[in-house]
Amino acid sequence: MNTAPIPFLNLKGINDRHRLAFREAFERVLDSGWVLLGEETAAFERAFAAYCGVRHCVSVGNGLEALHLVLHAWGVGPGDEVIVPSHTYIATWLAISHTGATPVPVEPLPGCWDMDPAQVEAAITPRTKAIIVVHLYGRPADHLPEIRVIAQRHGLPVLEDAAQAHGSTLDGVKAGHLGNAAGFSFYPGKNLGALGDAGAVTTDDDALAHRVRMLRNYGSEKKYVNELAGFNSRMDELQAAFLYEKLKTLDQDNHRRRDIATSYRLGLQGLPGLVLPLADDARIRSAWHLFVVRHPQRDRLAAGLAERGIQTLIHYPTAVHRQQAYADQPVSQRSFPLAEEYAATLLSLPMDPTLSDQQVLRVIDGVRSVCRTLQPTG
Ligand SMILES: *Cc1c(COP(=O)(O)O)cnc(C)c1O
Repeated sequence: MNTAPIPFLNLKGINDRHRLAFREAFERVLDSGWVLLGEETAAFERAFAAYCGVRHCVSVGNGLEALHLVLHAWGVGPGDEVIVPSHTYIATWLAISHTGATPVPVEPLPGCWDMDPAQVEAAITPRTKAIIVVHLYGRPADHLPEIRVIAQRHGLPVLEDAAQAHGSTLDGVKAGHLGNAAGFSFYPGKNLGALGDAGAVTTDDDALAHRVRMLRNYGSEKKYVNELAGFNSRMDELQAAFLYEKLKTLDQDNHRRRDIATSYRLGLQGLPGLVLPLADDARIRSAWHLFVVRHPQRDRLAAGLAERGIQTLIHYPTAVHRQQAYADQPVSQRSFPLAEEYAATLLSLPMDPTLSDQQVLRVIDGVRSVCRTLQPTG
């Protein structure tokens, strides 16, 4: 039996499968003599918009800027508030902070990652300008339908942070088409990852798409005609060409991730102290970006797995309001018990479409045997 270490994510293996297509894409760009905002970018934008079922995809430099440019285009700025999950990656909050607005965190319902709709409604003030929902770990926000109704009632737009959720669906609708606009990341480790940084905004809103298109390029549509004080946040032709190739196998990869998640769920049921992530159901199909379990003795579980050559990661070890970056903000003095508990107990198991069935079984065996050695502390 192969006992080689199991990496958390085999990025080289993932990209090796596209080696030939990448070489051809590289030659195509080199031959075109065009490296920014050309035909490759336009072709990828068309393909990704069609994939998500939206009218517009505007490619940008990365996922953080995708979120930031949408908020900026909506006119969010200093003095404004934006509602955001207490439990997410810090980039979701930073997109708000970079506009000068204040992130207003809302806790999840126990066992979920996304926001509790009742607490969302309670957090709305006259200063609230938008609501960001995060499809964390690839799972479309469970309570998005209720949150959309609340948003509509208050005349607020909903921005999806879809950075981890390429190809996931809620009620048959793809992430990227579940709110007024969405921000995607194509960071290399995401389900659809470039060979560098890249991101995109998707939306059905013609005016918003037009505005983001200008904002990403110095606020200009026509060279040297600057209508807005914009930014420089462009996807380059090479990344667009690589992503165009990888998009072709995204569904296949997500399917494999789903199979791995199913195997993990079946193999890890009923272990003392171990809490499994919510399963897909009739309404929700996760992209299974990560398979995140919880355990009261998380660090010992991780150490035991490491001894068995199984690499795990923590997404994320520090709740956002507890990060140094927010130490001078009033939010740092507040308590978000679920976000804090998650930071202390979450563990992400290896998840990668190139994992073999044998590797998946070894992870299951490893977790089972380490869990049995740990005393549940409740
Ligand atoms: C990765 C990620 C981002 C940021 O994307 P970048 O391309 O790294 O800037 C934003 N939100 C979430 C939830 C992410 O996982």
